[in-house]
Amino acid sequence: MQRSRGGTAIHLPVWLALGWATGLDERTPLLFGAAAAGFGLIAALRFALESTLKQLSMRRHRLARRLFLALLLSNPALWGLLSAWVSLQPPTASAAYAIWMVVTGVSAAGGLLLSIDTVVRKSYAALAVLPGSVALASAGAHAPLFPVVATLLLLAYVYRASAGVYDDYWARLQARVELEEHARQLERLSRTDALTQVYNRQYFDRQLGIECARAARDGLPLSLVMIDIDHFKRVNDTYGHPFGDACLQAVARALRDALYRPADVLARYGGEEFIALLPATDAAAGVGVAARLHGCVSALSLSHPSGSVPLTCSVGLLTMRSVAHTTPAIALNHADQALYAAKQQGRNRVVVATPA
Ligand code: GH3
Ligand code: MG
Ligand code: MG
Repeated sequence: MQRSRGGTAIHLPVWLALGWATGLDERTPLLFGAAAAGFGLIAALRFALESTLKQLSMRRHRLARRLFLALLLSNPALWGLLSAWVSLQPPTASAAYAIWMVVTGVSAAGGLLLSIDTVVRKSYAALAVLPGSVALASAGAHAPLFPVVATLLLLAYVYRASAGVYDDYWARLQARVELEEHARQLERLSRTDALTQVYNRQYFDRQLGIECARAARDGLPLSLVMIDIDHFKRVNDTYGHPFGDACLQAVARALRDALYRPADVLARYGGEEFIALLPATDAAAGVGVAARLHGCVSALSLSHPSGSVPLTCSVGLLTMRSVAHTTPAIALNHADQALYAAKQQGRNRVVVATPA
């Protein structure tokens, strides 16, 4: 629809200029006026119905498309009728030549520019050129053969060239869609941890910066929860690395399911260490989420052929009431210290950081 917009308004001025230049307006004022009214009406309808056709295409796509094509093809059809008329009853030689020249231009430009649609590609140039050619051919021996042959050659050329435009356009569009999909996949991969499918550390660090800035601006609290699986080295040593990997995947799933807000971000921060970023979460809510994250790891039932494998984790929680005087690095340090304290106090617990 967009492609044909520019060309829609050109037909009426071209016809007016042609008529005035060749004297058609005085020789055949009725026909001149009727054709001008025809071109004007097509352009007016095309612009007046633009938004209606867009809306209609959502509900009744085929009907909208038919109406649009009818409007679009009315211009070459009208030029076709005019060329047939001047071929049968040339008002003046200059008018006949001028109309044939315009018809040639219209069919070549429209036929190529709008060839991304199959129907338009096949019919645009033909509608503009064939009526005049048929009229010339039927005029018998008096009609010059050259314009008919030249016109048919032009039609064949436009048709052939438009096939190339059509193929190139759709191949490029397809390539763009595939490229965009590829870029989306790459973007997703670049922020995902390959083993556990939660966010990776790089993405987390970026989000932490963004959320700290937002919290500082809006005066909102922010909580950070660091989770480290207890004695995980033993699990690997006892049951093997592949089983250890399966444990990490199960822990990641459980932690992700224990976060309810869409804005919460869970990432794998290191080997067997996870971190949750909880925007707009105050101390009381942070303690609740940290307890839930801690509990969901103990609740996991991981089984190995040699028996069930219990897992526990230690958790460090930091809540910043106001982020204004804190940096992401300081916040991470406080959360890490709380986690360290949890390990020191015997593991399998939550420790809340108390920044000075
Ligand atoms: P702590 O309670 O003090 O945290 O003890 P820990 O054994 O969990 O901690 P430590 O830092 O000594 O060992 C972490 C272990 O986590 C070492 C490694 O075997 C394991 N680990 C780290 N990354 C992976 C991984 O991608 N896959 C597997 N299977 N294990 C990993
Ligand atoms: Mg550990
Ligand atoms: Mg660790």
